[in-house]
Amino acid sequence: MREKVIEFLKSRGAEQAGVCRAAENPFGMDYAISYTVRLSDAIVDGIDDAPTHTYFHHYRTVNAFIDRLSLECGFMLASHGFKYVPVPASQSVNGMQGIYSHKRAAVDAGLGTIGKSCLFLSSTSGPRVRLGTILTDCKFDILPAEPKNLCGDCRRCAAACPAMAITGAVWSPDTPRTEMLDAKACSDHMKSAFKHIGRGAVCGICMRVCPLGTNNNN
Ligand code: SF4
Ligand code: SF4
Repeated sequence: MREKVIEFLKSRGAEQAGVCRAAENPFGMDYAISYTVRLSDAIVDGIDDAPTHTYFHHYRTVNAFIDRLSLECGFMLASHGFKYVPVPASQSVNGMQGIYSHKRAAVDAGLGTIGKSCLFLSSTSGPRVRLGTILTDCKFDILPAEPKNLCGDCRRCAAACPAMAITGAVWSPDTPRTEMLDAKACSDHMKSAFKHIGRGAVCGICMRVCPLGTNNNN
């Protein structure tokens, strides 16, 4: 099933796909499928010192695409007799994080790592991706993931952040998020400075300035 699932997702628009053991989750599912969908370079490159309306629309459209693709993958799993739970592409529950961390699944599935920006860095597209996750009881052969530090000496995201929310700390599986990012400063800045664009739900500057995944390293 591992190869079948990966082929299914890639043939429908995913750039990368992989599987891993799932951490504890409310559904008791033991496995997770993770995949990436690359964002439009032209749209990401259009972000300067503020997100654009086009970026916000693209963000929402790609999220809707991921919700649909995860559901289709779930239908495929169900047709083989397995249970599935598509994790919503973008959702917080009572102000808390969603039902399962997309970033955790993507790292555990070997698709990339976490950058100093706290964003997921795909090994092929850097931060220019959105993530999809499906929890399942389908047993997969698991290959060990070995996430590498891709940031090196770079600090572009920390220097560019208008909220000064990125500390520049290097990620490891044991690094608390609070050591890397002042999430409240990030959220407060988005709500106050970008309220007129996507109701303050997006920013994208730290993604835009990251050299990883760009075709021109600008
Ligand atoms: S999303 Fe914007 S405000 Fe938040 S950490 Fe990135 S650059 Fe800073
Ligand atoms: S901008 Fe530089 S430091 Fe920040 S996530 Fe990208 S590579 Fe890492």
